[in-house]
Amino acid sequence: MSSAASPLLPVFARADLAFERGEGCWLTATDGRRYLDFAAGVAVNSLGHAHPHLVKALTEQAAKLWHVSNLYRIPEGERLAERLVEASFADVAFFCNSGAEALEASIKLARKHFHANGQPERYRLITFEGAFHGRTLATIAAGGQAKYLEGFGPRVEGFDQVPFGDLEAVKAAIGPETAGVLVEPVQGEGGVRPVPPATLRALREICDAHGLLLVFDEVQCGVGRTGTLFAYEQAGVAPDVMALAKGLGGGFPIGACLATRAAADGMTAGVHGSTFGGNPLAMAVGNAVLDVVTEPGFLDHVRRMGLLIRQRLAGIVDAHPRLVTEVRGEGLLIGLRCAVPNTEVAAAFRAEGLLTVGAGDNVVRLLPPLVATEADVAAAMDMIDRGLARLEQDMGLSAARGAAE
Ligand SMILES: *Cc1c(COP(=O)(O)O)cnc(C)c1O
Repeated sequence: MSSAASPLLPVFARADLAFERGEGCWLTATDGRRYLDFAAGVAVNSLGHAHPHLVKALTEQAAKLWHVSNLYRIPEGERLAERLVEASFADVAFFCNSGAEALEASIKLARKHFHANGQPERYRLITFEGAFHGRTLATIAAGGQAKYLEGFGPRVEGFDQVPFGDLEAVKAAIGPETAGVLVEPVQGEGGVRPVPPATLRALREICDAHGLLLVFDEVQCGVGRTGTLFAYEQAGVAPDVMALAKGLGGGFPIGACLATRAAADGMTAGVHGSTFGGNPLAMAVGNAVLDVVTEPGFLDHVRRMGLLIRQRLAGIVDAHPRLVTEVRGEGLLIGLRCAVPNTEVAAAFRAEGLLTVGAGDNVVRLLPPLVATEADVAAAMDMIDRGLARLEQDMGLSAARGAAE
């Protein structure tokens, strides 16, 4: 726990829990207790902990070369870019070190596109309520959440927020300064809210009709998390620009901005950059993550485990209606909407040995490593069932049920 004397800046409300090692979906705490990790470092540990293929790629690369800077060619990065481009709508990739940086690159790329095409006045992006795009000055402005903006001075200009999924509001917000639309195909931090596929398709049509760029933030929902390599595939439409991060490095900090060559036509030598982005060590790990996620059958497994969890959770919601009310999400990005504070529910799960993550809209997120097995899922569902039963008892809700019936 961060005490008053802690030398860490106290910007995180940390659980009083530290880990020593991990294997697959399991973590061992410093006190020896084992936890089933359905938080996965907030959707980052896509292949769980200490995955042999990632350990091998990292250690082999570490013995050869870590960093050279982008003053030189980086073959590992060229290979990762080629593979991401091959597997997506994109023609080019830019590597950085986090989700927020991937969004910064995407926002700058969209603005520069119009600048390069004789419409420098088009710099504004339409965004959605409940969005989360990161913690830099531009990305808190894009996310538009008061709690993240307050106290940090004038917000960065250029973002117009409309209600979640409201197509009429999008059309009404388009003006002579609009450059595009920025949206998470599945809102993560906002509470695991998937944008309906028809809405994503309509956004594509609106952007095409007005000559705007469509930018997807797949920092959380990308790289297999929803059961397809990219979440947008399920809607049958592609963006012009996409930000990736979290799962792409499997725990190594990697961000990426992917774009079509047409959208990226303003991004020439010198206009953007990163000292660390795309270094050989990061790129070796990114390639190793892709090796596994693109193996035949891997995404089928993600979809199967996702369905299994949702089936089990549906029964659990029926059994504990005073605590949890709804299951939502795609693949292994799953939200459990709570009827009591989500912090209490997450704490009850943790007491049973299961790690989860809170989200907006009073949701608890289940973000298991994509390699979670049927046995891991069964163990997690038992912990959830027990945790909710215990919480019901502690909150006197089982007595209330007895009285009401
Ligand atoms: C986590 C997240 C970000 C920010 O990523 P950082 O690596 O924390 O900067 C941006 N967008 C979405 C959708 C995210 O989930």
